Amino acid sequence: MAIKLFTNTMKNRRRLLAGAAALTILAGSSSCAELKPAAALQQQTSAGTGGAASLKAAAGKSSASNGNGVQAAANKGGAAAPAPASVTAPAAAVQLMKPTDGAAETGKVMKGEKVVALTFDDGPDGRYTPEILDILKRYKVKASFFVVGTQAKKFPDVLKRIADEGHLIGNHTYHHIDLAKASKAKILQEIAYNDILIQRAVGFTPTFVRPPYGALSSEVRAELKSSGRELALWNVDTRDWAGTSVTVMRNNVNCKVKPGSVILMHSFGSGKIRHTVELLPLLIQDLRKQGYTFVTYDQLP
Ligand SMILES: [Zn+2]
Repeated sequence: MAIKLFTNTMKNRRRLLAGAAALTILAGSSSCAELKPAAALQQQTSAGTGGAASLKAAAGKSSASNGNGVQAAANKGGAAAPAPASVTAPAAAVQLMKPTDGAAETGKVMKGEKVVALTFDDGPDGRYTPEILDILKRYKVKASFFVVGTQAKKFPDVLKRIADEGHLIGNHTYHHIDLAKASKAKILQEIAYNDILIQRAVGFTPTFVRPPYGALSSEVRAELKSSGRELALWNVDTRDWAGTSVTVMRNNVNCKVKPGSVILMHSFGSGKIRHTVELLPLLIQDLRKQGYTFVTYDQLP
């Protein structure tokens, strides 16, 4: 009960913070270039409350399988569940594991502290993610990686390196789908299958889920809430995925950054991510010059 209350309080705080950040971005952008506030923050932030009942219904099934006979509900020890060979079969009912990374209980910074969270989506991969990890290590910066199952399956060693070097890992779905358009069964499957791969590579199930495109529905919110998950959105989008130049990204971030900002970048996606690798050391130096320190997403108030 204590943990639940704490989590709810934290959610409320984050909701307030997200709202405040969105307003700040909207109000104070006259000197900035064209960056728009993250779509995710413009959406309704009220969470559904019907999740507990649906989790209980799902929890009645101790395991479930997809069309290929793959056991979907992963075990806590990470021993038996095979990698999902394919999730193209009709969505089967799965249950979400409770997070085991303890991220929701980590030490928080105070609201208003001059901190920033660097976040990297869509990896791991064998090229850019290791380069980003090398830079983070060189500058002694901890960041947050929201990983995709199809990539986690190919690069479990890189995923393990992310965890071993002290960065936060979050779930970014198995196939990088728009969860707002997915059925409840598909939502659960996309998160659960990625959980299995993360659990196998690093030994824990992450607390934080970043929905692709920031796309949310009341159903997604309800399922995350009822399984003890936390949403991880952002409020400064570098648009690195679009091939934005290093100079433009650097100027935009320096212009938009505020205490508690969450900066969205990518560690996989296309050759355009080489700009991200080039940007990162410059950004770290710029933000340090401005007096910022770097935290992982779970440390934000
Ligand atoms: Zn993504």
